[in-house]
Amino acid sequence: TACDDAGDTGGTGSDSATTSNGGSENITGDAGIGVILPDTKSSARWSTADPAYLQAAFKKAGVAAQIVNAEGDKEAFKRLADTLLDKGAKVLIIANLDAVSGKAVIDDAHSRNVPVIDYDRLTLNGNADYYVSFDNEKVGILQAQALQQCLAAKGGTDIPVIAELNGSPTDNNAHLFKDGYDSVLNRLYDTNEFAKGPDQYVPEWDNDEGREMFALMLKQYPNIGGVLAANDGLGNAAIEVLREKGLNGQVPVTGQDATVEGLQNVLAGDQCVTIFKDVKLEADAAAELAVKLYKNDKPALQDKLKDPESGLYIQFKKLEPQAITKANVKAVVEAGFVEADTLCTAK
Ligand code: BGC
Repeated sequence: TACDDAGDTGGTGSDSATTSNGGSENITGDAGIGVILPDTKSSARWSTADPAYLQAAFKKAGVAAQIVNAEGDKEAFKRLADTLLDKGAKVLIIANLDAVSGKAVIDDAHSRNVPVIDYDRLTLNGNADYYVSFDNEKVGILQAQALQQCLAAKGGTDIPVIAELNGSPTDNNAHLFKDGYDSVLNRLYDTNEFAKGPDQYVPEWDNDEGREMFALMLKQYPNIGGVLAANDGLGNAAIEVLREKGLNGQVPVTGQDATVEGLQNVLAGDQCVTIFKDVKLEADAAAELAVKLYKNDKPALQDKLKDPESGLYIQFKKLEPQAITKANVKAVVEAGFVEADTLCTAK
């Protein structure tokens, strides 16, 4: 049925930008602006929204670009960077796999006088020239606030035990999301409105591992009443485990990314909330900066962010996330991020 179709999130082909995955042998011609995305498994966004919107932005600007994906492989990440730089890339945009491999690429680029934009994920101690992302603590705060609302709406007298399924420990964002949601949850634990349950990071945001971890959590804490899952993939992993026990829909689960799967889980009542980060705005901001750098302009941004490792300030373009519950799924459609048909909703 149409409900099963995962829709593309927009963007068409391009004359001036090409996308390729994994092998550096795919990189041909003038690299212009090089983009390295992290993987295609931790979230649907990296194979749909991000490359499509970036490509569309470069096409519009008429600047050559190469968008590649490291498929979760840190060595491939480095190899792709080297190839892009060898091909004469004048700017790099990277979403790192971890701080060490990300920094190696930034150092390499800088040694060739190529500026680097950290895209979505800050490379700790990396000293990139710019950082484009969302307010990631706010993402976590919105997740926890929605979870609290979903639990309040459910009613009941038991103090809900909350399981936390965090993102990858090597992704700085996973820590920022957690700082955000823990700032809300810890208060609720302290006042005995919620009870703290299991709390684990999922390496590489791996959904299969997340599913196994959550199955064990539920075994140890059969009375889990709410799940703070850091993104839609991990949320869906928890929902699958809950479904096996007939508990889906009764235990609110959070997510992030407004993926087709996540939005469908929200519409089905199995997921309490997803966080919509409008990737078009993020891609446009990164592309605009990159094009300026490509033309030897060095724009000054309003916001600065302190890298907690190096203590250095990085120019930061900060975007606002939005909570999406069953009540406002339409906002994601209206933003053009997903087609209503893809979600099978009545318009
Ligand atoms: C991104 C999220 C994504 C996660 C897994 C994070 O760094 O901000 O949007 O879900 O990585 O790919």
